[in-house]
Amino acid sequence: MAAKPTPAELETATPRGMKYDARVGSILGTNTKMEKLPNGREVINSGVTMAPSKRSKIVNVCEWASAACIATCVLWFAGRRAAAKMRECARNITALWFYWPERFYARYDRELTNQERRAAAAGVESYNRPNVASDLNHDRIVAKHPRTTFYDYTAGFLRMMDYLLGRLPPNYHLTFSVKESTPFEHVLEVISRGGNVAVVVDTYYWGPTHRYGLMPAAAVFQTEDGESFRVSVIDGDRHDIRTPEFDGGGKMIGLRLKAQSNRVKELARSRGFAKYFSRGGKEFSTRFEMRQGGTIVITLPRLNPLQVLGACPSGCGGCAKA
Ligand code: SF4
Repeated sequence: MAAKPTPAELETATPRGMKYDARVGSILGTNTKMEKLPNGREVINSGVTMAPSKRSKIVNVCEWASAACIATCVLWFAGRRAAAKMRECARNITALWFYWPERFYARYDRELTNQERRAAAAGVESYNRPNVASDLNHDRIVAKHPRTTFYDYTAGFLRMMDYLLGRLPPNYHLTFSVKESTPFEHVLEVISRGGNVAVVVDTYYWGPTHRYGLMPAAAVFQTEDGESFRVSVIDGDRHDIRTPEFDGGGKMIGLRLKAQSNRVKELARSRGFAKYFSRGGKEFSTRFEMRQGGTIVITLPRLNPLQVLGACPSGCGGCAKA
């Protein structure tokens, strides 16, 4: 049951916001992957899971999402998120944030304070992922909780640049998400400034039997006109915490293509969201063990001239294929 709102919160409440407040059991949650921690380290980790893109039917929480990532979003079509009850929880959190942000942030703040107390009592570190299935600016919470380390993925190039230029709080870390429309120049810029980029790799994955396809050990990013560069790859499915402490910098984070249905997987492949890996088939998979080997070659589009001229405000590259 949600705690009683303060008089100040009630002043700005909307009837819809109040309805959703009662429906949200807790702002912070966890999932199977977030409970996987880097080897030998005990931490307390949590995240805020909204309904991705426009799945809430109220608001778009992924400003820089691409057509293919919306159609195949792992946070909607894979694992526990595919269950109706979990989707309803995510929709309620999104609605609370949209209709009554003061209440949302007050509850987020309180739950995080409780998490920090539990972490301090257990002598472990506190981590939080503010955008498990969204790409929003929650900087007000990050700034208020220096005792927690925050991490996120973003597809917003300018937001990523803010991070790499040190304009975001020091306890907040970002990884740049590569979509089918992300330009080569953006990836090169992020890597050369010491940031990491996340790529969905078309390699075998079947969670129920713990079968994992081979993850490449290296990646070559290239354009069709022959420019290229090479980086090493980190297996992003080993754990969820994406910080320079665990991932280093200037690397690709490989994430296996996951979905409940083959139709969704096929869509991710055919639209170019999941990047083809020649050794990604079942024959290269292993049970209970995540292995790496080989090189993946990823061809990306060139930067759209509109973006070069600064006429595109988002920098997402979504119009590059228009
Ligand atoms: S940006 Fe991420 S969370 Fe949002 S729709 Fe795309 S894959 Fe899903």
